[in-house]
Amino acid sequence: MSTTTPRVLVSGAGIAGLALALQLIRAGIRTTVVERAAAPRPGGQAVDLRGASREVAERMGLLPGIERRRVHEIGMSYVDARGRVFGRMSMADFDGNGAVAEIEIARGDLAEVLRESLAEADADAPGLLEVRYGDRITALEQHDDAVDVSFERAASERYDLVVGADGVHSATRRLAFGAEERFAHALGGYAAFFTLPTPADIEDGWFTMRFVPGIAFGIRPDRDPSTSKAILTIRADRNPALRGDRGTQQALISELLEGAGWHADTIIDAMADADDFYFDELVRIDLDSPVAGRVVLLGDAASCGSPMTGMGTATALIGAHLLAARIVARPDDLPGALAAYAADIAPFAEVGKKIPYGGIERMVPASRFGAAVSRMLVRVTLSKPFRPLMRRAFAAGGTELALPTVEMSEPVR
Ligand SMILES: Cc1cc2nc3c(=O)[nH]c(=O)nc-3n(C[C@H](O)[C@H](O)[C@H](O)COP(=O)(O)OP(=O)(O)OC[C@H]3O[C@@H](n4cnc5c(N)ncnc54)[C@H](O)[C@@H]3O)c2cc1C
Repeated sequence: MSTTTPRVLVSGAGIAGLALALQLIRAGIRTTVVERAAAPRPGGQAVDLRGASREVAERMGLLPGIERRRVHEIGMSYVDARGRVFGRMSMADFDGNGAVAEIEIARGDLAEVLRESLAEADADAPGLLEVRYGDRITALEQHDDAVDVSFERAASERYDLVVGADGVHSATRRLAFGAEERFAHALGGYAAFFTLPTPADIEDGWFTMRFVPGIAFGIRPDRDPSTSKAILTIRADRNPALRGDRGTQQALISELLEGAGWHADTIIDAMADADDFYFDELVRIDLDSPVAGRVVLLGDAASCGSPMTGMGTATALIGAHLLAARIVARPDDLPGALAAYAADIAPFAEVGKKIPYGGIERMVPASRFGAAVSRMLVRVTLSKPFRPLMRRAFAAGGTELALPTVEMSEPVR
């Protein structure tokens, strides 16, 4: 390893930013994380770890913490207006490769596992890590060998590398690559998630879904059985009034759920009080390269296929591992490290953006007729004779890509 120790700035303390910071400071690299939110952001439904992302979690030593917070989901079922099940996909039927994976953990809980590991790594090697909540980058000035960074609150500083891990609406991307409109492609809808008290008649361990024209809504098990996660996918044209306006977002959800039966009213009542209500447009982010000089994008900021893929967290973890490995292997040649990282992550980013089932059109019916057709399709595709075909379709979801080998004296973890 080189004698040079770079200074790295990470924007965003989500899964991507925390995972990168953890591996960098374990390798002795000074890292500052700046997060816009005033405190760690809770929330998010269960995310899958399988294949390469599970291997990364294992290499990083995260599995014991994940195991303690794991969500125990048996499978997924579809219900009608009266809550009667008309289609089921159990995890056992799909060898852990169906819509519900072998390892499921709520996004907020995974972030907590990462923060705990980060606190331990910080205690082992004090002075390498700074995490600053309630601040953000306001300007970047690139030089050949460094980046000067201005912040909203803290004084300006110089870094060897800036990592934009600030999510789908990344400000780092805007500052270093250009306006969001150049990279974001609307996928025809919105997604919302929040925590609610578990309704009494919910089947234990099942992710239960219902769809009606314009919206698919479900209730998913949480780690704590007294709470569940509401998950809503909305089919709608882009409406700028929805951006950042919780009142307008919830009014749209209420309108679509009105008279939808099953637990539509439970969800409407609970969302007003939810302290982790999350709502965003479904967009895909496409960039030719995640690298611009000494700025590199990671996670959703670099490539995103929306929550419809279920792959955002997996891709963020894999990206953080590969980027850390390249930085640690070549700390005195960061441009070379970034070029190698861009090549490493490209196939994972591509797979991570693949939307199953033909996108929102198949996930959320537009009309009553469409809903009837979808119900029939669920019945057929989840029937026993179709299972081998479905199993193959799910197995193709990224698990076959192997992690590239990075030559270094000590593997990153
Ligand atoms: C609260 C929340 C809930 C989510 N729930 C789900 C879910 O249920 N299902 C799903 O599929 N995906 C969900 N996502 C998205 C999912 O987390 C990502 O797809 C995936 O984990 C990749 O993570 P990321 O770290 O790249 O981005 P994110 O998880 O979006 O993290 C980005 C972080 O950057 C911070 N940030 C944003 N702008 C700035 C800025 N200008 N300066 C500094 N920091 C900034 C954000 O506050 C956030 O902490 C959620 C994201 C969030 C933030």
